Amino acid sequence: MATVAELRDKLRRPLLAERASGHQNKIVAGGVEKLLASPLGNPFPGVREALKGYGDLDEPGRAAALNAALNVLDGQDAAAKAPRTPRAPARVAVPTAAPGERLPPDADLARLDTGPGGTRKLNSLGLHNLRDVLHAYPHRHEDRRALPDLSEVEEGQKVTVEGTVVAKSRRSPKPGMLILDVTLETPAGGRVKATWFNQPWMERQLRVGARLVLTGRVKKFGRSVQIGVEHLETVEDAKGSLSTGRIVGVYDSKDGISQEFLRRAAYRALEAVPLDDYLPAHWRQKYGLTDLSDALWGMHFPHDEAQLARGMNRLRFDEYLFLELRVLLQGDDAVLLGKRFQATGDDIHRFEGALPFQFTGAQRRVLLEITDDMRSERQMARLVQGDVGSGKTAVAACALYLAVRDGYQGALMAPTEILARQHYANLSGYLGQLDVRVGLLIGAMTAKQKLEMQTRIAEGDVDVVVGTQALIQENVRFDNLGLAVVDEEHRFGVQQRRKLLAGRPDVLVMSATPIPRSLALTAYGDLELSIIDELPPGRTPIETKLLQDTHRQQAYGFAMRQIREGRQAFVVTALIEESDTLELLAATQLSEDLKVILPEARIDLLHGKMSAAEKDHVMTRFRAREFDILVSTTVIEVGVDVPNATVMVIENAERFGLAQLHQLRGRVGRGSAQSYCVLISGENSRKTRQRLGIIEGSTDGFVIAEADLKLRGPGEIRGTRQSGVPDLRLGDLANDLEIIEQARELAKHILAHDPKLEHPRLQYLRSELQNRSQSVAYREVI
Ligand code: ADP
Ligand code: MG
Repeated sequence: MATVAELRDKLRRPLLAERASGHQNKIVAGGVEKLLASPLGNPFPGVREALKGYGDLDEPGRAAALNAALNVLDGQDAAAKAPRTPRAPARVAVPTAAPGERLPPDADLARLDTGPGGTRKLNSLGLHNLRDVLHAYPHRHEDRRALPDLSEVEEGQKVTVEGTVVAKSRRSPKPGMLILDVTLETPAGGRVKATWFNQPWMERQLRVGARLVLTGRVKKFGRSVQIGVEHLETVEDAKGSLSTGRIVGVYDSKDGISQEFLRRAAYRALEAVPLDDYLPAHWRQKYGLTDLSDALWGMHFPHDEAQLARGMNRLRFDEYLFLELRVLLQGDDAVLLGKRFQATGDDIHRFEGALPFQFTGAQRRVLLEITDDMRSERQMARLVQGDVGSGKTAVAACALYLAVRDGYQGALMAPTEILARQHYANLSGYLGQLDVRVGLLIGAMTAKQKLEMQTRIAEGDVDVVVGTQALIQENVRFDNLGLAVVDEEHRFGVQQRRKLLAGRPDVLVMSATPIPRSLALTAYGDLELSIIDELPPGRTPIETKLLQDTHRQQAYGFAMRQIREGRQAFVVTALIEESDTLELLAATQLSEDLKVILPEARIDLLHGKMSAAEKDHVMTRFRAREFDILVSTTVIEVGVDVPNATVMVIENAERFGLAQLHQLRGRVGRGSAQSYCVLISGENSRKTRQRLGIIEGSTDGFVIAEADLKLRGPGEIRGTRQSGVPDLRLGDLANDLEIIEQARELAKHILAHDPKLEHPRLQYLRSELQNRSQSVAYREVI
């Protein structure tokens, strides 16, 4: 029997979704009123009333009605008992919480005073209630505690200093240019110079005697230290400031949403929500975990490194605990029936005979594991993991061939259109000569082309289809899908995989993320693991060199020599702070600079603000050697193959995670020629040199992942982008072995005693589990 709290929760979700989708009354099957008319609405007459006639209201009317309804639903039980007037007023001001008032984690963001437009901004980042804000952790932290002593700072290091302005001058070296120079004296008596270009409005703040806290990068000229200022506050403002004088978090954001705003929102949420712990104290003690309140405060606003480390450890543990609970709750051991293929030795030989090379030992072994699965009547659910270029696609092509030989269709799904096209070209190469009909279906095709392909798929006129998400859209019906291959699984949600699985084909997932075998079960729940741990022969390892940015000319001189020999080069720029626009600007600027430095080279640009079709077009031209240097933001990251490219230059390499650098480097060395990777570091601290040295010294993904862990400080967080698993914000599968095992142990222990989490003591854990989960599949289970 569901509790009222659970029913409330069940009702809240579709209502929030309705709001998020712009009140179109389409998100809930049959409309919002129908939902309320169901038994779900029984305990909430007030909500029913508030939403009466919803379908007939205009958009602002619906917005108001929905807000009123959510208000009634959220905690205002008194109102729920006393039905309100039949029609919601046109505009309802949502009362924000009074100072000191506590709000439940599910409370709507409108109840939090985040300033004008605050709720809308947070919504646009995918944050809809207080819990979302609490768990939107910073993706990194910056130490902005003022340094007492500047003698030790290194070139390029980011530092915070506090001091008094003792001298100031303004220069105008040419018309239209204004330079403000300020000298700051620190409490310890050191001196720092800071400079502002063309910011006349700064002049008032920078008067002599003003006491300031500055954050920026260090430039050293002999003994004198200069700072390129990125953040400034006066000492008075800095007292109690969320943005300076402390270790500050840096959040995922987008244009128009400032870090200061996000910090304030997190702070308000932490103050408003009672952070009762869902983990009983004796378990926390057993696993050495701090309590939830200390952890969340420590994650967003740590007093010191120790609190940050405690917080991160606890929240990471929780992520794994929830993941483990989810896997265990889902896992039923019933064998799912899939397709049963012949997969004869003859067919395998025929496939291999048509290849221009022989399979490596590792490919052969993995192929055997796959064909065993294919021959059995169980549904295959296997993950093939292997470094970029290890030959996963070739193995998948063979499996697809075997499926086709048995009269089935095959599908290969890629995360981007560029990759889909590339796979299409490769599969056509492998399979075309074996009389297999290969088709392509991507969003960039015209409606007519798509319809034509859909018809061919439905009528069995095509054997293997390569595509993007377009493949799992409603109007794609396979005649007889036997095997589905999914490239880079983590870019797809669980839901999408389930959709693809609807016809119960065998499923093969390919991924380049190195995951130790013992962890694969946790990460992918139900997938078995095959590893290709050997590169095809004849590959010359990529030569990697680390350069200081002061020597970047060398890198480009080298790239130019390769270009003169008929080769091509990638140049990648790092994400600059947290903004797409800035990232684009930096890439554009770089490509303009390169055009000046390398006038002979043909240079083009690829960035994240391009449409898929535009990106595709640029990549196609690059592959066709229509230009020599591709300057790109990180969109290039996933496995694009350009065999003629032999140079990868990575600017601001220190801003990338090592795993990401390894992936980027894998873009070259795809052909037979010797390839090179140059890491240009914008920072010259010992720590950075050491970290980037790992990439310089190894080409083995596992070694790199391991060394990375050893060097990583507590302030560095890896985001979802790196962990590859959507439910993990903090977790890092390759390195969290111990913590994962503990979390698994606890999850098993909990479920062994209480398989459905029904004990009152676990109510809070259970509701947290339900609400924090991203995975719809899982919500259906519990
Ligand atoms: P992955 O999908 O793991 O990135 P691919 O299957 O795309 O790797 O293979 C990378 C490149 O190596 C392709 O050009 C492919 O033709 C080639 N290749 C694959 N297997 C072998 C092999 N056994 N011997 C030589 N070359 C191979
Ligand atoms: Mg690949």
